[in-house]
Amino acid sequence: MTTKFLLPESQLPTHWYNVVPDLPAPPPPPMGPDGKPVGLDALAAIFPQALIEQEVSGERWIPIPETVREIYRLWRPTPLHRAHRLEAALKTPTKLYYKNESVSPAGSHKPNTSIAQAYYNRQAGIKRLVTETGAGQWGCSLALAGQLFGLEVRVYMVKVSYGQKPYRRSMMQAWGAEVFASPTDMTNAGRQILAKDPQSPGSLGIAISEAVEEAAGRKDSNYALGSVLNHVMHHQTVIGEEAKKQMALAGDYPDVVFGCCGGGSNFAGIAFPFYADKAAGKQVRLVAVEPSSCPTLTKGVYAYDFGDATGLTPLLKMHTLGHDFMPPGIHAGGLRYHGAAPLVSQLVEAGLVEAQAIPQLETFEAGALFARSEGIVPAPESTHAIAAAIREARACATSGEKKTILFNLSGHGHFDMGSYDRYFAGELKDFDYPTEAIRESLAHLPKIA
Ligand SMILES: *Cc1c(COP(=O)(O)O)cnc(C)c1O
Repeated sequence: MTTKFLLPESQLPTHWYNVVPDLPAPPPPPMGPDGKPVGLDALAAIFPQALIEQEVSGERWIPIPETVREIYRLWRPTPLHRAHRLEAALKTPTKLYYKNESVSPAGSHKPNTSIAQAYYNRQAGIKRLVTETGAGQWGCSLALAGQLFGLEVRVYMVKVSYGQKPYRRSMMQAWGAEVFASPTDMTNAGRQILAKDPQSPGSLGIAISEAVEEAAGRKDSNYALGSVLNHVMHHQTVIGEEAKKQMALAGDYPDVVFGCCGGGSNFAGIAFPFYADKAAGKQVRLVAVEPSSCPTLTKGVYAYDFGDATGLTPLLKMHTLGHDFMPPGIHAGGLRYHGAAPLVSQLVEAGLVEAQAIPQLETFEAGALFARSEGIVPAPESTHAIAAAIREARACATSGEKKTILFNLSGHGHFDMGSYDRYFAGELKDFDYPTEAIRESLAHLPKIA
């Protein structure tokens, strides 16, 4: 009875998969507020040319540079597990498999793209990367990547998280990054906020504004984003490419693939390589799972909106709850984003990818059951994929149907034990669906000229 399906390093993918040529229609381009597609030169102030080319690429396969593959080998290929003990706990006839992205040095899938982004910036002669982080997972992953490529990294960390997640901050510093509690008095954006509210707790939107302003204003510095953009989706497809080979080793193929969805990158990572099969006629369901209190794909509209909270970025066609939507303070910090990746959104809109929303308590219940059967304490984000897989497996237990389910364990929860503490103490609650807040923020969608 095999539990882990392992690939040798020689089986590490050589190319990233780009879903664009397999989409039912060309992706709608990013636009300016004037309703015209943005020129690529607008992006050149903050991104290296190679990443801009990947952002607009129509090539199905993008070669992974050998230097990036060398670093991937520090933890890739990651294991695919058969969740025998979880299956037994659920008394289900269904087979459950999960891809374990928690084994990276940062504890999540995010280094799959941070390593690639640091590489291309280094190649372009950039000396510093500037970014924002909420709970700290992206900041850690970029700090790691910067360290490995000899780039300075500066992270604007949302002030409340800076106070609440001190060990994420220490981890970024251990990898040599500078971390500041945003808003700071170092940028115009930060000073403007502080002038109005010296006690501002900060937000991801404000931190993005600070990071983009600094990167755009310095020739030696670029900006790096951990999700949402097309090039990030491509980089994450090593997850699904490996998973396909490992499912074949197991002699299986999934009926359903689940991934949690914040910006969409780990979902795209596991699901897009299977979507390639679906586009070629194979039957496979792909399901993105989000929190019911930030239900971007299930309750948002598919429209052009800003990527950040303050309206600095180009407009992206995506599912959105409105760029000024403030989600309730759920513990899956990485899933509190108002939008979703344009590539994921387009597939949901076309009916080729499904979306489900799950309330907070059910996700923690699933996380605890997973930890108690499989041993790994999952990140609160990843528990959304686990909860959806458990729903499906329980339905099979009732109907007697045998299915094969695959989900992505996007990260471990070792820095989220405070959230588990509150769950075990009975202090967590389900938030009502924020109808009024969503109605109000959707009224502020940008009007395109
Ligand atoms: C950041 C993060 C997410 C959410 O981001 P996506 O781009 O949707 O993948 C999910 N899980 C973990 C562990 C994360 O760190």
